[in-house]
Amino acid sequence: MLPDYHIHTALCKHAQGGVGEYRSGAKKQGIPEICFADHAPNPDGYDPAHRMTLNQFPSYKAGISMVQDGEPPGVLLGLEADYYEGCERFLSSWLPDQGFDFVLGSVHFINGWGFDNPEERHIWDSADVTATWRRYFEVVTRLVDCGLFDAVGHLDLPKKFGYRPSDRDLKDMVRPVLDRMARAGMGIELNTSGLRKPVGEIYPSPMIVSLARERGIPVCFGSDAHSPGDVGDRFALALDLAREAGYTEYFRIRQRKKELAVL
Ligand SMILES: [Zn+2]
Ligand SMILES: [Zn+2]
Repeated sequence: MLPDYHIHTALCKHAQGGVGEYRSGAKKQGIPEICFADHAPNPDGYDPAHRMTLNQFPSYKAGISMVQDGEPPGVLLGLEADYYEGCERFLSSWLPDQGFDFVLGSVHFINGWGFDNPEERHIWDSADVTATWRRYFEVVTRLVDCGLFDAVGHLDLPKKFGYRPSDRDLKDMVRPVLDRMARAGMGIELNTSGLRKPVGEIYPSPMIVSLARERGIPVCFGSDAHSPGDVGDRFALALDLAREAGYTEYFRIRQRKKELAVL
């Protein structure tokens, strides 16, 4: 079994279950290590509906340290932090001092549009799909370039509801992003939550995973669990995806230092 590096808790206001329940779920399945990656708090008022407040962060951290008891599965302190214009103001001073094992960088908004939010899905119907993806990858490029994150989460998230550019356009857009990720030593997350969404596919697609493999970008696995039953969700399919792309190793991380392990 592979580690699951993307688990939310009830603190983000849209997931169920506490740290202990997620850990029991992982233990039942024989998952060797889990990393909590709840949405980053942000004092500048960005998307408060989907995240803990800065005041709640100490209880997030304490809850995780309480289950770091040396018994398997190992538990890591992580965070899923959104990249958006200006996020560096808070994150660059706050992130390094919190003792994180893993910081996953994600993009869920384009110019204030929560493009993966079911309540804002209708906006896709009148959007230029290819231009939207292009704008999305521009934001991801800034995420990569800011140097604050260890890996990129669900890299092709805009496919969630099935709106996609052509393969050719997508390749043109994603290649330069992957080049920059490789140069920056960033990892890529294979995220199985897409299997639970209308698109019915792991993020990112086999084509992107192959392009990442060609560039030597290290891979990790996340269920993006929002309830304890999601932990390790269909990781066998994610393992197949990684192997088919040619991966023979994946990364584990501690104190933000990656180490490769055999897949
Ligand atoms: Zn996310
Ligand atoms: Zn997530």
